[in-house]
Amino acid sequence: MNVVPRVCTICERYQKIGNYYGVPACCACKMFFKRAIADNEMTSHAIPTKSCRMQCRECRLFRCVEKGMFIIPESTFNVNNYDKLTSLLVNLEHMQVVRTNKLETMHIFTNPSIEEIAWNGRPKFEKRPKDMTMDVTEWSFMCGITAIDYALNFPHIAELAVYDRKLILRNCFFYLALLSDALRAVTNKQDSLSFPDGSDVIPPNTDEVSDELKKRIRITLVGRACELQITKEETYLLSTIIMSNPSVADISPAARKSLETNQQIYTSALFQLCQAKNGASGPSRFVDLLSLCHKLENTQACFGYLSMTCAQNRNPVCMKKLFDH
Ligand SMILES: [Zn+2]
Ligand SMILES: [Zn+2]
Repeated sequence: MNVVPRVCTICERYQKIGNYYGVPACCACKMFFKRAIADNEMTSHAIPTKSCRMQCRECRLFRCVEKGMFIIPESTFNVNNYDKLTSLLVNLEHMQVVRTNKLETMHIFTNPSIEEIAWNGRPKFEKRPKDMTMDVTEWSFMCGITAIDYALNFPHIAELAVYDRKLILRNCFFYLALLSDALRAVTNKQDSLSFPDGSDVIPPNTDEVSDELKKRIRITLVGRACELQITKEETYLLSTIIMSNPSVADISPAARKSLETNQQIYTSALFQLCQAKNGASGPSRFVDLLSLCHKLENTQACFGYLSMTCAQNRNPVCMKKLFDH
């Protein structure tokens, strides 16, 4: 292990640095992260302020997660290692906190394509000005790019070859964004798909598209998610299963193998969670959750039809390169 003194990615002190949980860090930060996740020592999720500068535990943990520290599950889950599942869920919860914080308070002022992100790594976020107007284009873009940033926080996605990473991100980011929107709708007791500020996901001036199609976009997924009352833990695991899809066309055999292994791990985690929370009806809960994927596909297809129809009428819905094919 490399022990030449360097600056720790987390605490920024000059220390002996090793590669811990995927990030060049000092031993103290490694131990801090391990205790926070594996021992679930921290239950509060305070969002760091600029003035704090890492002085509190919340900021330090936020930074660990933001910089990509992740305790990789090493094997599939079963009834005998439920404690490992608990720490995975704690880790995923902290990742979601980082993602939500970026979506609600940060912005990206460039217009990268998925290919550019696959080459250059996770995008750089900046503070969103308080008076910035968020329209459908900006919200769609931010929901999409925070989903991509979230996926790249997983080592098995970040470590894919550039070409594979591009295909995997393109395949999953819209689903991840939709699933997160659906969870927010369930949490906020809304019956329609909307952006974080509650605004409608359908752009104005789209009269050329039928109300029936718009209705399907708004309620197909959310309606089912509300019926099932999906929980955040279920959503985190389902998202990870979706991003680890080994069936995406044209990926390399090496990527396929790695994704397959990871998808099995997260699928077993979801199954164990269903068993633990639902007892005898665990298996049917598991099937119900996986069937949400059809609603995701359906909603994405409707969005595709909407933007295609509007583009034909010289009324593009979203000018961001993220959504290019
Ligand atoms: Zn450190
Ligand atoms: Zn702080």
